[in-house]
This record gives sequence, C-alpha cells and structure tokens, in this order.
Amino acid sequence: MKKFIFYLVGIIVIIFLIPVICTSTVKETSVETNDVNNIIPTGIVENNYDYKQYQKVKLLHTKDNSIEELNLDEYLYGVVSAEMPASFNEEALKAQAVVARTYTIYKIKNNNNKHGDAQICDDSGCCQAWISKEDRMSKWPENEREQNWNKILNAVNSTQGKIITYNNEPIDAFFHSNSGGKTEIPINVWGGSGFPYLQVVETSGEENYSQYSSEVTISKEDLTNKMKEKYSDFEIDFNDSNCISILEYTESGRVRTIKIGNKNLSGVEVRTLFNLKSANFEVSIEGDNIKFKVKGYGHGIGMSQTGADSMAKSGSNYEDIIHHFYIGVEIKDM
Ligand SMILES: [Zn+2]
Repeated sequence: MKKFIFYLVGIIVIIFLIPVICTSTVKETSVETNDVNNIIPTGIVENNYDYKQYQKVKLLHTKDNSIEELNLDEYLYGVVSAEMPASFNEEALKAQAVVARTYTIYKIKNNNNKHGDAQICDDSGCCQAWISKEDRMSKWPENEREQNWNKILNAVNSTQGKIITYNNEPIDAFFHSNSGGKTEIPINVWGGSGFPYLQVVETSGEENYSQYSSEVTISKEDLTNKMKEKYSDFEIDFNDSNCISILEYTESGRVRTIKIGNKNLSGVEVRTLFNLKSANFEVSIEGDNIKFKVKGYGHGIGMSQTGADSMAKSGSNYEDIIHHFYIGVEIKDM
C-alpha cells in the first residue's frame, strides 16, 4: 500500500510538472530584452533571433546624411511604423514586417554602394521609409501611443527571422500603397525583368481605402509649359479632340503609352510629370483644364499595403498575404 501511494504521488507530481516545464520555455513577456528603450510590455514576444552577419543595419538618415547602426529588428520597428498605419490589421502589419525584413536583407546582400558606407536609406522613394520611435510616438494621439507601438513590436517580433525567398534567395520585395485592384509587373515601370515572383495579381477591397482614387487638374497652359520644359519642340492643338489620347494599356490596365500633342509618353512618365499617384488613370479635357482621374497609389509592384489590410480583415494571415502578392515564394527562417 505504501508503495502504491508513493507511485501515485509520483504520477501526480509528474502530471502537474509537465505543463509547467513546457510552458516555461515559451518566450513571452519579458522586461530584460533588446528593445529600443529596454522595455517590452507584457504579451509582446521577446526578440532574440540570431541574425549572424545580418545583426546590424547601417541606415542613412537623408535629412542630415548621418549614418546610424541599428539592430535589424530594431530598424524594422521604425520601418513598419513609418510605412504602414498602426490601425491596420495585425496580420497586415506582420506581412509588412516580413516584406521589410526581406527588402532589407536583399539590399544588404546586393549592396551597390549607392549610399556609401550605409546599406539603406530612410527615403521611401529610394529604399523604404523609417521613423524614430520618438518621432513616431509624437505623431500619434497620446491615448493610442502604447497600444500602437505594441502592435508594431508584435508584428516584427512575432515574425523574427522570417524572410521571403525564391530559389532559396531573398526576393526583391517591392511594395506600394494601393494597387487600384491589380498589381503591375516591373518591366512596365522600370524596364527590368527577371522577377518571376512579381506578377499581375488582383485584390478585392482596395476601393474602400482613401488611397484608391484621386484627381489631378491642371490648366492647359500649365500642361503646355510642363511639356515644353521637357520637350522643347512640344506642340499641341487643343481644338483637335484627339490632342490627348491613351494609345495603349499595360497587362494590369495602367497606361503604357499616351499621346499628348505631338509627343508619345509612357504612363509612368506622365505620372511623374504631373504628380499623379499612379500610372492607372483616365484623362479628359474640361474647359480650360485637363483632368486626370487616378486609381491606386504607388508603382503597383509587389504587395499592396491596403490590399494586405483588406485581405487580413477578411481572415487571411500574413503568410496568405505574402503568397498572394509574391508568386511561388517561400517564407523561411534566415
Ligand atoms: Zn536609398
């Protein structure tokens, strides 16, 4: 009988101890971490991934040309919070974190010395945007600051080590604000090819975001002057009803070629020249003005951020989102 009680007590002890031992290895909630301000609130996954030679990022601050060295994920807190509204769904923020990490590793691996001693800059038009925690916090309403920052930390930390690969190499993970419903392929924007994972994909729900539609109105006189700045032999006869006409569209429905007076321009060129949010536009002449009705925001290549949020709100997780926008890729630990 004594022996039986001894075994029974032993079994009970084991039954109670096993879950305690198992759960204690889950890395959550800690105060002694490598966060920016050494404080990670309860519920946030600790970030301690070993990035080996990619531990540090040399970031160029374009405002004053200074270079700052940051831990990779610490740098990503600043990228995700600069590139995507914290109000977006957590899965969209996670997708953004993985995309930004991949983009960064690609830049470091394929460093073209564009930024001297730095590996990446904080200009969204060149590399990807970045904002310091202090500046980010000051732009949020006070009562949202802690919650917003925790969402950013969680997006980066819960995906630590994850990057997107194609043929085992990090992809050139382009992203943009709003695709207008369909993404674009690089050859139609930069003329580059060799990105099998960047294809035209459709996403629903992007029309619910303010970035989806915009308009630019320019007077006939201003249009003429802008064109003449670029082409000294530019001529246009506004009495001709065909003086401005779209000649061809890309696979995604963006403007490939448009005739303005005696010149043929690409949609991308017109986007830059007249500050349009994308090359997906319609054009009309209304009285003394030319009106561009624009769909989407950005070059349209890779992940659409509003598309990601729309997918997340419909139940997709960050992996679904990444596989939707980048074709045939894998999400791997570095
Ligand atoms: Zn740059």
